[in-house]
Amino acid sequence: MNNTVFSVIDNTVRIARNNEDFCEEDYKNSEGLLICGKCHTPREKFLDFDKTSKFYERYKNHPFPVLCKCRKEQEEAENIRQKQIETQMLIERFRKEGITDENYLKYTFSYDDNKNPNISRACKKYAHNFSYMYRLGKGLIFCGQVGTGKTFYAGCIANAVISQARSVLITNIPSLITKLGYSQEGKNYILNKISYVSLLVIDDLGVERDTPYSLEKIYEIIDTRYRSGKPLIITTNLKYKDMKTDENTSYRRIYDRILQMCHPVAVLGESRRSQKAQESSDFMNDFLGLNQF
Ligand SMILES: [Zn+2]
Repeated sequence: MNNTVFSVIDNTVRIARNNEDFCEEDYKNSEGLLICGKCHTPREKFLDFDKTSKFYERYKNHPFPVLCKCRKEQEEAENIRQKQIETQMLIERFRKEGITDENYLKYTFSYDDNKNPNISRACKKYAHNFSYMYRLGKGLIFCGQVGTGKTFYAGCIANAVISQARSVLITNIPSLITKLGYSQEGKNYILNKISYVSLLVIDDLGVERDTPYSLEKIYEIIDTRYRSGKPLIITTNLKYKDMKTDENTSYRRIYDRILQMCHPVAVLGESRRSQKAQESSDFMNDFLGLNQF
């Protein structure tokens, strides 16, 4: 029995010795222990066995290899570097899987023109405190006219949350409904995804066709997310007060769930799309020397 234990220890020490990188500057101290020539801390030590222990007799004069200070620091730095690489790979995977429409990749806070500083501040605060919001299960619903930047803000939050190595899915109802119409396997896959991602973003709620079939599917999507207890962010042209007062049963059960999960954010202001179109038109008129429209 003793021999087996000893041979396990001896073998472990032998492997550790084989992996050591000895350098010429290393030297022995007065106790006969090897000292690192770079950081001058021990690379060996005697283990503190109890004098009555069976190991004491065998190993009392036996130096065991240990990591000196500089090698320990090197190993820790390597572990940190490895962890950073793994986190980076995870972030890239989450971005690839969560943002399938590459237009959303451009929606980041660094591109924010800050024309709506209150909203920008609120969105940054939400993204920055996402772990807390996640624990509360609190999402947002961005309401406002077409082109006011609702999707941009939701996209900024989605990208910021992915950068924290959290999974996100940014999508829209028509795309989800199509996927729910696939085989049972495909349907289960998308329902699982709706449940497990840390943040689900549904862009442009309200533009889909309101057939009984699609309303049933929308309810299935929203209810699946609701039961996960995780945050949901929605952008919509629907009016918040209409969502609160709609008496149609099919809509009511959808909106009730959404209003429980999502805090309303009104994105006001003129349409950025028409503003951009106007700027582009002004530029062409100037350039061509026209002034017709
Ligand atoms: Zn050293």
